[in-house]
Amino acid sequence: MDVCPRIEIDLSKIRANTQVLVDRCKNAGIQVAGVTKVFCAVPQVAEAMVEGGINMLADARLENFGKIAHIPIQKLLLRLPMISQAEKVVSLVDISLNSEIATIKKLSEASIKQGKVHKIILMIDLGDLREGIWSDQIHTTIKEITQLEGVQLVGIGTNLTCYGGVIPNPTNLGQLVNIAMEIEDTFQIRMEIISGGNSSSLYLLERGEMPKAINHLRLGESIVLGRETAFGEPISGTYQDAFTLIAEIVELKEKPSVPIGEIGMDAFGNKPVFEDHGIRKRAILAIGRQDVSVNNLIPKDEKISILGASSDHLIVDVTDSLKEYSVGDEVAFDIEYGALLQLMTSEYVFKKIK
Ligand SMILES: *Cc1c(COP(=O)(O)O)cnc(C)c1O
Repeated sequence: MDVCPRIEIDLSKIRANTQVLVDRCKNAGIQVAGVTKVFCAVPQVAEAMVEGGINMLADARLENFGKIAHIPIQKLLLRLPMISQAEKVVSLVDISLNSEIATIKKLSEASIKQGKVHKIILMIDLGDLREGIWSDQIHTTIKEITQLEGVQLVGIGTNLTCYGGVIPNPTNLGQLVNIAMEIEDTFQIRMEIISGGNSSSLYLLERGEMPKAINHLRLGESIVLGRETAFGEPISGTYQDAFTLIAEIVELKEKPSVPIGEIGMDAFGNKPVFEDHGIRKRAILAIGRQDVSVNNLIPKDEKISILGASSDHLIVDVTDSLKEYSVGDEVAFDIEYGALLQLMTSEYVFKKIK
C-alpha cells in the first residue's frame, strides 16, 4: 500500500490542461508563463507543463527556481524581489516583476557584477491594491530605469483579483495597454511584454473581450486545477482533478453528534457549535490542520461530509455513504487552491507522481 496521507499528481492531466490553455492563448497572441508556486515547483510537474507547450516558468520564491534550474527556458520571478536577494535573483532568473526603483538599482548593480542583463517588467497597480506603482509615478520610474545599466525594461504588467478581488475587464486592461503605448511613444522603447494578469483574466479570452495588445499571462490555478478564477468556473476541455488527496481512516465509530459536557474552546481558540443529528458513524482520518485547511477539501464520495479537524485529525461523517468503510481504508478528496498550496508545502504529505 502507498504512504498516507499522500497527494497524487496526474502528470498527463497537467500536460493536457497546459496544452489547452497554451493553445487558446496562442490563438489570441498571448504567451503563457506557467506558474509553479502552488506545487512548490516539483520538477516533474514543471516538466509536464513544458511538455504541454509552456516556454516560460514563473514562481514567487527563489528557492523553487533551484528545483527547475535544469529546464532550459526563461524564468520569471513573480514576487517583488527582496533587496537582500538581488544577487540571487539575477543569477537564478531572467526576468522579474518590479515596482521599487531602489530594488531595481540593486538588480542593476548585481547584473553588472555578474556580466548579465536582467529583464524588468514594471508592475502597474490598476486598483487591486497589491503590488504595482500608481499611474502618477510611471514616467519618473521609467526614466530612472532606462538610465540604469545591467537591467532592461521589457514590459509592464498588472496583477488583479488577488488582494482587492478586482476583476480584470476591458477597461482596466485597456488602461494597461494605453500605458504601454504611451511609454513606447515617450521613451522610444518597445514594450515586448504586456502582462495582463493571472488565471482571473482568462474569461476575457472566452468572451473575446481581451484587449488585443495583451500578449502575456501568468497562469497557475487554471493549469493545475482547470479553473478560471474571476468567477471560479471550470475551464472547458480541462481536468479539475490532476491532484487528489488520499488519507487513511484510523478510527471508525458510532458516536453522538453533540459533545457531552460543558463546551469551552477547541484546539484553535474557537467555541464550537453543534447540531444534534443523533448517533452518526464517524471516521477519523490521519491528516489535520497542520497540513491543510479542511474547508478547501471536497470528499470524492459525495455522501461523506467533513465535520471538523484538529492539528492532526480530520473527522468525517460516513453514515450516509453507500460504501462500507473500515479502519485502514483510504478516503479520497478533490482539492481547492488554498488546500493544494498547503498540502504541497507540508512535509508530512507524501507526493506521489503518476
Ligand atoms: C501567483 C501569481 C500568479 C498566478 O496566479 P493564478 O491565479 O494561480 O493563475 C500570477 N501572477 C502573480 C504576480 C502571482 O503572484
